[in-house]
Amino acid sequence: MEERIKRARKLLECINAETIREDLRELEKAIEMTLSYMREIGVVEVCKMCAEEIGSCCRDWVEDEVDEILILMNMLLGIKMPKKRFKADLCYFLSKEGCILKIKPVLCVSYICELIRERIGLEKERKLQEMINREIELRSKLKEKILRMISLRCGNLT
Ligand code: SF4
Ligand code: SF4
Repeated sequence: MEERIKRARKLLECINAETIREDLRELEKAIEMTLSYMREIGVVEVCKMCAEEIGSCCRDWVEDEVDEILILMNMLLGIKMPKKRFKADLCYFLSKEGCILKIKPVLCVSYICELIRERIGLEKERKLQEMINREIELRSKLKEKILRMISLRCGNLT
């Protein structure tokens, strides 16, 4: 993972953040809204309790979903990458306070487990899903722009 982070740092040099500032702001806002709704309907609390009882569901294999571009996007939002893994067998991006990534892999964002389903009910799950879909749509748009920029400015790095 350290190698992947290193490559993302290199790719960062190809990005003109000014041209995607608005996209970043819009995505950050959508992420904050989803998180705030998750707090409001008790998802954050359920996860906290569950993680304390049975351990985190952030297993190490999930980190394969975090590629250079996702790391790069998080760096653009000011996220500092960990220098080493917090705990063996768990995801590289997990910290004592939870996931350090602002833009998480789609797998993590869209995972609504049975425990959460039971707790929030169908109506809230639908609303949460809509918010998640909006987040995924915005990040895909941003990813496309970033990939285009990298290919135009640093084609040799891709
Ligand atoms: S997503 Fe589900 S399994 Fe994972 S910590 Fe939250 S409640 Fe537990
Ligand atoms: S939510 Fe974050 S810490 Fe958990 S598996 Fe996903 S990327 Fe890793």
